[in-house]
Amino acid sequence: MTKIRITKQFTFEMAHALLGYDGLCQNIHGHSYHFDVTLIGEPIQDPASPKYGMIMDFGDLKRLVNEEVISAYDHALLLNDQSDKILVDTLLHHFEKIVLVPFQPTTENLLADFAKRIQKKLPSDVRLFSLKLRETDSSFAELYTDDNFDPSNPADIIW
Ligand SMILES: [Zn+2]
Repeated sequence: MTKIRITKQFTFEMAHALLGYDGLCQNIHGHSYHFDVTLIGEPIQDPASPKYGMIMDFGDLKRLVNEEVISAYDHALLLNDQSDKILVDTLLHHFEKIVLVPFQPTTENLLADFAKRIQKKLPSDVRLFSLKLRETDSSFAELYTDDNFDPSNPADIIW
């Protein structure tokens, strides 16, 4: 059977600050992120299926990513959970979407987080192939499932 990759593209707005970083990104600032989700699988061969000929319904993929990623992070301020507690408490008091994460909120680390969230909700016959997160016109990070595959433990993907 022919393997096909499909990609759905998303955009969201998010602010972050990099704790302890030695440059401008230690300050709270925002990006218009472009996020691409690519799946790989075989088109459904059952003519009786309403999804006949599809890897996964683009509408279902859109809903999944919106629920698992976009709704959590769009128009949020993402901070490392080791950030100053007084600052965090003050922000939580004044704003709704302050998200504390147990990692430095870089584009790279966000991809690993997104991969975990998406992977666990995918149908069993479809595989996550890659994710791409663009932070600026000239900067993006990519995650490929195959780069994180441990041959000694094939059931495990290391994110
Ligand atoms: Zn940034």
